[in-house]
Amino acid sequence: MSIAIDKNKCVGCGKCHDVCPGTLIKSDENGKAYIKYPRDCWGCTSCLKECPVYAIRFFLGADIGGRGTLMHTEKHGDFLDWVIEYPGGDTSVIRVNTKESNRY
Ligand code: SF4
Ligand code: SF4
Repeated sequence: MSIAIDKNKCVGCGKCHDVCPGTLIKSDENGKAYIKYPRDCWGCTSCLKECPVYAIRFFLGADIGGRGTLMHTEKHGDFLDWVIEYPGGDTSVIRVNTKESNRY
């Protein structure tokens, strides 16, 4: 379970650093985010949801049935889209209305 950060997209805002519960994400000499020990990531997905430029992707590895599928999130108004990218190039989207979620 781990993430990958696309340094070409990263704008160095630091939001992913602030939310990672394991303090796993650091900045390189150019201010771009990277994860030093990817195997320490426990997949909370907090960093995905904070990244404003969708630079962080989460590996849905074979151990959780994803066979290398990638996932990232995109915010569209009140909606949070969970975008799944399959190895063959297909994608699917799970859309969550954030105004309606997490209500108890
Ligand atoms: S998924 Fe969670 S634990 Fe893993 S790097 Fe992102 S914020 Fe940290
Ligand atoms: S939240 Fe995204 S843009 Fe901001 S530092 Fe992290 S990877 Fe870079």
